[in-house]
Amino acid sequence: MNFYTTILGSGAALPTVARHCSGQVVNLNGFRILLDCGENTQTQMRIYHQKLQSMQTICITHLHGDHFFGLPGLISSMHLCGRKDPVDIFAPAGIAETMTNLMQVAGSHIEFEIHYHELSHTEGCQLLLENQRCRIYAFPLMHSVPTYGYLIEEKPRGKNPARRYAYCTDTGYTESFLPYIHKVDLLCLESTFSNAFASIAAEKLHCTTSQAATLALKAEAQQLLLTHISARFKEPEVLLAEAQAIFPKTLIAADGERYEVHYGKLN
Ligand SMILES: [Zn+2]
Ligand SMILES: [Zn+2]
Repeated sequence: MNFYTTILGSGAALPTVARHCSGQVVNLNGFRILLDCGENTQTQMRIYHQKLQSMQTICITHLHGDHFFGLPGLISSMHLCGRKDPVDIFAPAGIAETMTNLMQVAGSHIEFEIHYHELSHTEGCQLLLENQRCRIYAFPLMHSVPTYGYLIEEKPRGKNPARRYAYCTDTGYTESFLPYIHKVDLLCLESTFSNAFASIAAEKLHCTTSQAATLALKAEAQQLLLTHISARFKEPEVLLAEAQAIFPKTLIAADGERYEVHYGKLN
């Protein structure tokens, strides 16, 4: 069964030509989930062959602009392209009012249903959605506004164990969510800064490369994929070396690339 993520944006708050703001499409045997929708996500979807109308489930980590400024445009384009099917949007509280106001001001009349599922900032891991292919969970991260990580777990088939993919951004260093991502097959974690910027990372509640790698190690993740890379880092090799010193099976996400969720336990 296919299980992979296509990165649309691997950058942090300031988009660059090389790294757009956060966005990625997880494909689980044809069921697609859009994780975050930063500015320009819909254009990146077209470039990297992700059909707008195939997206029914959208999960937003938090309401900082680099994670949802692309959502009004995406919804508007879905409407312009004749969409009739509903869309489910999971996001922290405030998304429904924000989106409704934006659409009203813009005079947009959306002719399909948008189901907003606002997450409350409680402790623990919440089951958001279950269908024949997967379960999607959300759990709180540690950031300057309410922020959620998402865990996508496939339904096991045959003798294969269920693969799990976790997407955690933005967050400062905290071990509070490690129980929810224990032994995850692919962990996509923010790493906004290199180690030299540790004090800024702590102040802004982001992770450094070493912190992200330490979290992956403590979670006993099978593989680590670093994302949310600050625009100040033009050459990611330094970041990669810092992370791999702690957690060797680390990759740095690149826009347009596809990353498979492998069966960690079978390798
Ligand atoms: Zn961000
Ligand atoms: Zn943020």
